[in-house]
Amino acid sequence: MNTTHKKVWRTLQVAVWLVGFAIFSSLLFFPAVGIMLFWNILIPVAPLLIVVAVGVWRNVCPLATINLLPRHLGISKRKIMTPELQAKLGLISVLALYIIVPLRHAIFNTNGQATAILIFSMIVLGLWMGSRYEWKSAWCSTLCPVHPVERLYGNNVFGAVGNAHCDKCQNCVVPCPDSTPNMNPRLVKKNIFSQISGLLITGGLPGFVWGWFHVPDHDGISSGYDLFRVYEMPPAGMVVTLTVYLVLLNARLVREMWLVRVFSTAAVSCYYWYRIPSLLGFGQFETDGVLYNAKNVIPYWSIEVMISATTLFFILWLLIRKPNKQSWVVRPAFAEKREVGVN
Ligand code: SF4
Repeated sequence: MNTTHKKVWRTLQVAVWLVGFAIFSSLLFFPAVGIMLFWNILIPVAPLLIVVAVGVWRNVCPLATINLLPRHLGISKRKIMTPELQAKLGLISVLALYIIVPLRHAIFNTNGQATAILIFSMIVLGLWMGSRYEWKSAWCSTLCPVHPVERLYGNNVFGAVGNAHCDKCQNCVVPCPDSTPNMNPRLVKKNIFSQISGLLITGGLPGFVWGWFHVPDHDGISSGYDLFRVYEMPPAGMVVTLTVYLVLLNARLVREMWLVRVFSTAAVSCYYWYRIPSLLGFGQFETDGVLYNAKNVIPYWSIEVMISATTLFFILWLLIRKPNKQSWVVRPAFAEKREVGVN
């Protein structure tokens, strides 16, 4: 990457970091505003950005900017992780996603401080990992709970952008999700951990998303029943679509890459199918996740047009459009070879 491009990315990283910091501060001190900015604006935009240009997001993600800081400043131990540890952390990230996201209904959607604590915990963990391990193996390509979704949705991005973090490739993750064309969760089947995590996210996410939207927000967890309500529908949906995925996979009627594309399309389409109505006040649970209540402003058919349009877009982008052999970012030149486990 040339100096001008680097400067542009650094400027963007600082700008997005400042936005992130503003949202984080709002969550702490003006929770209603913070919740609106984080859960009702940033998070709803994220899946679309991941589908189209996940490399842009990975270049500017504020959490990445923080946890890669030790590496940029030259104070990381830069350990190279074993493939087995990478796979184990990858499985933990999928499980973390499936455990944390349902808690939004009972805690995070309505509690700004709790959301801030969740983000802060990830910052501390990410920084600690970043101070020990090389580049994105530390967090962005292993433990980050958003990363499994990036792998699933980012299987046919518009094209590769420059890598705004790694100056030289240290081969810290193999295969590197950023640098592998048409990356997807089922490309890596090195061991049982990567196999399980790949199946859980690919087969399970569409049903999980569907189930998640069938749980109303409620204030806190004060009984076993509250916990049951939170964890009932999303895992149930997950089990259903995972079973369908496994049946289709074993039937060998189509190539697995096709199945991955079908299931990623289903998951992201399902997300917007439910999220757009709720953002505009037309959701199944009227007060949940509303950005602007447009119920008395626009007719319901306009919502149907919007969700049909997003679904059509994802079908065209992820399913009909041929895999374009593009990676998320351009791999930088390789550095000298280092051995696994070396400090
Ligand atoms: S480009 Fe190379 S150094 Fe950077 S995350 Fe990928 S494998 Fe690691």
